[in-house]
Amino acid sequence: MRDTVSSTGRGASVSLAGLEKSYERVGAVNGVSLDIRSGEFLTLLGPSGSGKTTTLMMIAGFEQPTKGDIAIDGISVVAMPPHKRNIGMVFQNYALFPHLTVAENIGFPLKQRGVPKAERTKLVGEALELVHLPGYGGRYPRQLSGGQQQRVALARAIVFQPRLLLMDEPLGALDKQLRENLQLEMRRLHADLGITFIYVTHDQEEALTMSDRIAVMNDGLVAQIGSPEDLYDRPCNRFVAGFIGESNFLPATVRGMEGDIVVADCQGAVVRALCPGRPGSGAQVTLTTRPERLRFANGAHDSATVNRMSVTVTEAVFAGERCRYMLQAADGTSMVLKEPSSAAIRRRTVGEQAEIAWSVADTILV
Ligand code: ADP
Ligand code: MG
Repeated sequence: MRDTVSSTGRGASVSLAGLEKSYERVGAVNGVSLDIRSGEFLTLLGPSGSGKTTTLMMIAGFEQPTKGDIAIDGISVVAMPPHKRNIGMVFQNYALFPHLTVAENIGFPLKQRGVPKAERTKLVGEALELVHLPGYGGRYPRQLSGGQQQRVALARAIVFQPRLLLMDEPLGALDKQLRENLQLEMRRLHADLGITFIYVTHDQEEALTMSDRIAVMNDGLVAQIGSPEDLYDRPCNRFVAGFIGESNFLPATVRGMEGDIVVADCQGAVVRALCPGRPGSGAQVTLTTRPERLRFANGAHDSATVNRMSVTVTEAVFAGERCRYMLQAADGTSMVLKEPSSAAIRRRTVGEQAEIAWSVADTILV
């Protein structure tokens, strides 16, 4: 979080409290509570159908909540019509008016608000500069590429200087290269404007790259909220561990606790993991760790800080910058190990027995 942003207060704070939305008694959003800070870049990340769009539509005012409250800057907006909420919005499918020029498209919200022509021209010019399209005002949407159209949609959403911008998969229709460029531009724009962004995507890499914080959604609920690092390094459940990045899941049986560390029997080894709760001895649990945090063991390790396990290599793939190995542990559980490639490191071969090692700090009970 950038403190300068919250202290200048250009962005709205948004508070969702027990927010629910049902369609014919089927829950699309099932009780979302979130406090989004002034000037924050918050992403709602989740698979298709997890309730992201419905949540955004309720904030915008295009859907009425079945239950719960939405406050913007501390004031409940549930009874307020969308146009009074003064929120900018960008959708996946640009939604530009095809018969209006770029300048007319961007000026549209200003016209609706009764801004005089001279002022409109000035603000439209500034918005075009912000999205790197100066001189494009006279064109029609059909004369622009997909990426340029989305920049125009962005300009139209910010031209009236809203304190909150909502975006629903705005880059979803663009190719990978363009998407990556625009991701960086969105971040820059967020820093320049200092307003609050609520961004929806199902793309975890996009969410990790752009966000101050991510709320991971599943089945109409927030599964976890935190910084990209929090979610990646300390997923609080199996869904988050599996949805963000790649994870190994290892069944284990708890032996006991050593302070905050759980000690478990796992695939013929004794494995230590970080653990939010205090599971009892004998509890069946799942431990998780990331493929790039595993390595092939060489030499002795301190068992208090490093886990160790015997495995068999079942697949070995050289992928340029890294090697990817499939491993099989004692009871048949599969694991993935990713290792940066180097001509100096001996490649493992299929069928080989190996010892792997990884930090206790990179092992989480989920
Ligand atoms: P997401 O944006 O995460 O893909 P949505 O918010 O669009 O998810 O949808 C959440 C759930 O609510 C889905 O199961 C979807 O089918 C359902 N849903 C969304 N809008 C409607 C609607 N207008 N009528 C009935 N069901 C809906
Ligand atoms: Mg959606």
